[in-house]
Amino acid sequence: MKTTIKSVAAVLNAPAPHMVGDGFRVHNFFPGGYKINMSPFYLLDYNAKIDFSARNEPRGVGVHPHRGFETVTIAYHGAVAHHDSAGNSGVIYPGDVQWMTAASGILHKEYHEETYSKSGGPFQMVQLWVNLPSQYKMTRPKYQALKHDEINRVNLPDHSGQIEVIAGNYQGIKGSASTFTPVHVYNARLNTGAKASFDFPAAYNTGFVVIEGKIRINQTETALANQFIHFGPEGEEIEIEALEPSVVLILSGEPIDEPVTAYGPFLMNTPEEIQQAISDYNQGKFGFLED
Ligand code: MN
Repeated sequence: MKTTIKSVAAVLNAPAPHMVGDGFRVHNFFPGGYKINMSPFYLLDYNAKIDFSARNEPRGVGVHPHRGFETVTIAYHGAVAHHDSAGNSGVIYPGDVQWMTAASGILHKEYHEETYSKSGGPFQMVQLWVNLPSQYKMTRPKYQALKHDEINRVNLPDHSGQIEVIAGNYQGIKGSASTFTPVHVYNARLNTGAKASFDFPAAYNTGFVVIEGKIRINQTETALANQFIHFGPEGEEIEIEALEPSVVLILSGEPIDEPVTAYGPFLMNTPEEIQQAISDYNQGKFGFLED
């Protein structure tokens, strides 16, 4: 039935970039760049593909806190080394995903991995902030390191591509990451001519990032690398076709219907909880991590 097609609300260009530390040159699609409601996704920082020059001292961002949400880092080019105050560390290589639940509070640092830093070269990443509902905001921090090879996937017909199911589910295949609320996060890797279709509840907030290539959506709109496709609130079905070899990050989630109070690296429900986060952080309650 034609009435179930989910329409494209807008195809958005990447906003002007800014630096996070000296290691991430990010385009903030939301909430800064565009005032769109993508709850439970609160923030999308997109480091479009750029070349960093070789450097012995890795670039990055030093020790900083988070509380009340999850950071999800998805690597496409380059490599990032992570350390946190819960004792977790690891390197996020191309195709890997790090799903870090800050929840009650964590300190972490994110730097270019040393070997990558010394050689320099292409770097492309996404960092998402996925909000947590109030009942989970003060739960224990959690860390899921998903290696590219281990991410569950669905092969499209005729070797035309793959859907990597990072979270949620796709055609009966469960996502590799566990989540606190219903969200679907996939990487679609498509050869020229490949088609993939998606079916998300109408009430979910849905958006795609074209990481690489050029796609046609619902046989009408076209989107290029570094553009964000924001879908409207009606309809469920989306079909994409790759006009070139393409990589598309697919995001859809059930909105969290709660007040949001954001301040820097904290994402809570009320201003009082933000004050508490600042106070707890200043009192060293987020643990310790060496610079
Ligand atoms: Mn961070």
